[in-house]
Amino acid sequence: MLHLWPQLPGEGGDKYEGAEKLLGPLRAQNFANPAPDKTVGHDHFDVAIVGGGIVGLATARELLKRYPEITVAVLEKEPEVAGQQTGHNSGVIHAGLYYEPGSTMAYTCVRGADLMYAYCEEHKLPVQRCGKLVVACNPEEHKQVEKLYRQGTANGVKGLEIIDSKQITELEPNVKAYSALYSPNTGIVNYWLVGQSLADEIRKSGRGDIKTSFEAKKFEKTKEGKVRITGGEKIMDGPRLQVTANKVITCAGLYSDRVAGLTGGNPRKHKVVTFRGTYYQLKPEYRTLIKHNIYPVPSGGGIPVGVHFTPTVDVRRGHQAIIGPGACITFSREGYRFFDFKLKDVWDNLMNGAFWAFALKNFNLSLGELYRDLNQAAFLSSAQKYIPCITGDMVEPSFAGVMAQVFESGGIAAKDFIFERKVMDGSILNVRNAPSPACTAALAIGELIADTAKEDWNWK
Ligand SMILES: Cc1cc2nc3c(=O)[nH]c(=O)nc-3n(C[C@H](O)[C@H](O)[C@H](O)COP(=O)(O)OP(=O)(O)OC[C@H]3O[C@@H](n4cnc5c(N)ncnc54)[C@H](O)[C@@H]3O)c2cc1C
Repeated sequence: MLHLWPQLPGEGGDKYEGAEKLLGPLRAQNFANPAPDKTVGHDHFDVAIVGGGIVGLATARELLKRYPEITVAVLEKEPEVAGQQTGHNSGVIHAGLYYEPGSTMAYTCVRGADLMYAYCEEHKLPVQRCGKLVVACNPEEHKQVEKLYRQGTANGVKGLEIIDSKQITELEPNVKAYSALYSPNTGIVNYWLVGQSLADEIRKSGRGDIKTSFEAKKFEKTKEGKVRITGGEKIMDGPRLQVTANKVITCAGLYSDRVAGLTGGNPRKHKVVTFRGTYYQLKPEYRTLIKHNIYPVPSGGGIPVGVHFTPTVDVRRGHQAIIGPGACITFSREGYRFFDFKLKDVWDNLMNGAFWAFALKNFNLSLGELYRDLNQAAFLSSAQKYIPCITGDMVEPSFAGVMAQVFESGGIAAKDFIFERKVMDGSILNVRNAPSPACTAALAIGELIADTAKEDWNWK
């Protein structure tokens, strides 16, 4: 059997049969010249979901599962699904340590992690429960380890343990730290591949359609009370494609505020700010330097900064141990590189009072992240704090991801997922904030959105 998949150490070759099946046709597919399909012309669906990231896809799958009669379309502006945040991240299945007890994030992360492990096992996608250490380098940081322990336990995270420096060395000989929180239920997965698998399920349901290269640009109510969505390929002004739907859910990630604005949602609230997370990776000969996810204690005014180490099971990039990401403000919503620049996007940030409040309150952090994004030595020195043996010649550049974060007034990073309900006379539900751990939580977010839709739309 031909294996597109580099095997993980100690894994049998057929374990990732599900991934092989998905990747074969995907690799054969010519995305530049897709075969004409139902995206040409006008179509009607019970529900249209705007955004083919993991949140939109998980929601579409959940609706199709719950309601055996309905039809669902996913509209995605890129030529493939899961190409933005979902395809450019650390690939960590978070256990649920960081989120306020009682929050939607805490609930969906813990439940979503269980669902994600089960999904990958059922669909034979690569996943590893590799465990994680959140390390404290001194007694001051140890207080944060204790706080995370209490918080995680309150959130229902199983198996948490605070360990000392000797126990750390037994688990990870190269890590030097004062203490650590050990989380055995944290794992790694390839979310891009999970996205492809969800899309595959949606297509195979016979009631779901994925319309790629369809950027939703206009939402309007028809005389019959339906929502007409007009769009097309993102770099094209015409001719236009149209879809109508009884109900619409938007899950537009980096553009969630703008798409919500197009639907009639509040354009001034929940503005998105985007941050680039740049990764390095250990060169292949050093990949075994760490076995677990190794994280510093959290810092950063509520945005996920703190250079961490993560082994990966990512097929496209080869199995790596990645180091990162930082969190550097971008000058373009899709600013995967430092010099990517779009005037409209910079203007939006300049006009965003909540973001300014954050940047001023966290001035050193903001400058430090800008500097670290450009300077490998500065980046590495954060990592050397707890893995002192790591040197510049052991690492090489890897990829970057761009994350969306909403800031509330006063410069506080929104701490929970945000839904904007009953927009356009009750026909539209907008997901306004879905930052990390939205990949971990995606299947549980899908359930929650389906519950919300049922309530808002009086579905049986
Ligand atoms: C660097 C980084 C590291 C992270 N690490 C982790 C991690 O380890 N674990 C974890 O759980 N989470 C992690 N996250 C967070 C996670 O990736 C995101 O929270 C999650 O992917 C959000 O999914 P989404 O579907 O909302 O957004 P996206 O994946 O961004 O999907 C939104 C989709 O909407 C499409 N779209 C936008 N506008 C339109 C339009 N007008 N018409 C049609 N389509 C449109 C976009 O093209 C995109 O495909 C990380 C994020 C980043 C950036």
